[in-house]
Amino acid sequence: MKHIFANWKMYLNLEESIDLAEELQAKNLPDSINLSLFPSDLAFSDVGRLLEDKNISLGAQNISDAPKGAFTGAISADMFAEADAEYALVGHSERRHVFGETLESTKNKVIDCIEAGVTPVFCIGETQDDLDSGNKKKTLKQQLDIVFDSIDGKNENIMIGYEPVWAIGEGSPECDPSRAEETHEWIHNYLGIGDIDILYGGSVEAHNVNDYLSKKYIDGVLIGHAGADIDQFSKLIQKVS
Ligand code: PEP
Repeated sequence: MKHIFANWKMYLNLEESIDLAEELQAKNLPDSINLSLFPSDLAFSDVGRLLEDKNISLGAQNISDAPKGAFTGAISADMFAEADAEYALVGHSERRHVFGETLESTKNKVIDCIEAGVTPVFCIGETQDDLDSGNKKKTLKQQLDIVFDSIDGKNENIMIGYEPVWAIGEGSPECDPSRAEETHEWIHNYLGIGDIDILYGGSVEAHNVNDYLSKKYIDGVLIGHAGADIDQFSKLIQKVS
């Protein structure tokens, strides 16, 4: 089973989210795909209702790093669990690099997700600067260590999204699938956990999705821009079907 996760970011308003969800739920998806959508918080419940009878799940784009309390504007992992979220992105590159999410915060979010019964899709990835300065592995280790040192064997409830920051966004350079797979294999070996799913993200589109999905160590893809456009996403789904 390969995972196809579509992070709609802030691309779609409510009406556009509903339109895209309706298109997707009308499709016959093969059992070999686990499709999950990550709509905006405002579209979350409406999209969820549309998908109720389908084998398409929902994920949160972001959760609070505190479980409950006086945190104006925040939504906890528990609240998303109540709204039937199966997954939540944690540590997405935009949360780290645009919103200043810290290593400590990613750790708290992963723990909250696990406690709430929501599977965290814990995103890690090196920047172009990390690459240029030879610090790729150092950065990935730092991002992984703070979380895996704190979850005490509760690994069965966590997924990883490897997303090289330099490859994210329409028009960014593509990470060669073999190079992506090498990093996935390295993450597996570094963590020493047999059974952990690692998704690849960064400019995955219809033309290259199977190049990534055909790799042994790539368990699925996390898709940004190509998952928020009906034509592009339909083509992509067709390719993997
Ligand atoms: C992402 O931001 O998770 C992502 C993979 O974006 P894109 O597909 O647009 O590169």
